[in-house]
Amino acid sequence: MEIQQIPAFVDNYFWLIHNGKDAIIVDPGDATPVQNFLQQRQLNLCAILVTHHHADHIGGIGKLLANASTDFNNGAVPGNSSQTSISRSLPVYGPLFDQKTGRIPTITHGCSQGDSIFIPELNLYFDVIDVPGHTKSHIAFYCAGLNSLFCGDTLFAGGCGRLFEGTPAQMVDSLQKIAILPANTRVYCAHEYTLSNLRFALTVEPNNETLRTRYAQVCAVREKGLPTVPSELGLELQTNPFLRVASPEIIGTLQSHNKLTGPIDELSVFTAVRRWKDHF
Ligand SMILES: [Zn+2]
Repeated sequence: MEIQQIPAFVDNYFWLIHNGKDAIIVDPGDATPVQNFLQQRQLNLCAILVTHHHADHIGGIGKLLANASTDFNNGAVPGNSSQTSISRSLPVYGPLFDQKTGRIPTITHGCSQGDSIFIPELNLYFDVIDVPGHTKSHIAFYCAGLNSLFCGDTLFAGGCGRLFEGTPAQMVDSLQKIAILPANTRVYCAHEYTLSNLRFALTVEPNNETLRTRYAQVCAVREKGLPTVPSELGLELQTNPFLRVASPEIIGTLQSHNKLTGPIDELSVFTAVRRWKDHF
């Protein structure tokens, strides 16, 4: 099994999981690079996974579905295509809320916390985790078989997603659900934000040796134009400020910058760190 990174737009990553024959795609914001890769490798797309409703994660779904139907028709007479194209549609797994409300109308299988998805073509199971915060209905897909988490815009390498629809409390809960996964879980987030995230992380926790080492490594990798994603959850726990709200150094930095004046608890520290990063 291979997990292929498909770069798109300015800094997005779509993730394509395949076994040399069948493939699934996570968060296809654009159909073209996905189709190019599928064609190049002669892969058959068998399912689409979606973490949340933002356009850069769902923009390619319609075209991928239409093409899957065309492939199935395999040269059918154009006039008959509309009749035959509905005979096969790819399953699209995404947040139940967005299916119910029609916010992502292409979802065929609405998912929420505790659901398990089985992809028979790849013989893979994915556990669905509700991770609201970036959006109110964000989900993540955890695949124990691949030791991998596909978390969209929730946990980033060195950072976390902005809170567009959810509350800080929701994001704290969501990150805690991720933090308890095995430390060797590979984190497949949807953007290359690592360098700027770590710059901020160093501002709030400058004496974290592991973080300093990571920053130097990431600088070298980015200078070569290479990706820094996936990362490993264990490293995130040691270096990502949004997973380190109990760090005395982070709390001290917030206080010395007058960014944390009230009581000290996980939620208030997280909120202060998130607010600072929003204006960093
Ligand atoms: Zn997003």
